[in-house]
Amino acid sequence: MEDSALFGSCLCGSVRYEITAPLENAEYCHCSMCRKAHGAAFSANSTVPTNKLTISSGADFISEYESSPKRRKCFCSNCGSQLFIRRLDKPESTVVTLGTLDGDPHARPERHVFVASKAPWYGIADALPQFKIYPGCEPTDDASSV
Ligand SMILES: [Zn+2]
Ligand SMILES: [Zn+2]
Repeated sequence: MEDSALFGSCLCGSVRYEITAPLENAEYCHCSMCRKAHGAAFSANSTVPTNKLTISSGADFISEYESSPKRRKCFCSNCGSQLFIRRLDKPESTVVTLGTLDGDPHARPERHVFVASKAPWYGIADALPQFKIYPGCEPTDDASSV
């Protein structure tokens, strides 16, 4: 909905962005790249159409790291906040980290993904669906959620 813009920023405030579309596929990602990048048990992400994401200020501060082939984690070079994931093979959508949003995005994470890579010291305590890898990419011997 165009009338409900969302705003976000990095920790130091150098990078600010605006989203003019509902968030899609809100989820918790337990993959090792997210854990390392965020220094946390998991990341909380969502997807938006790239053309609905505007960098309002600080674009020059954004650095990119190719965490896996064709996936680049975009972060603030001044404070280190993980902001976006650009998918070179799917440039029409961009992953946005929920933690850098200001205010309530209304979307709520609806699943855990890459649970097979979950930190051993963290136990998932909610009832959301869990996927060993990702919906549509589950191991064939266990096609449903775990
Ligand atoms: Zn920053
Ligand atoms: Zn991840």
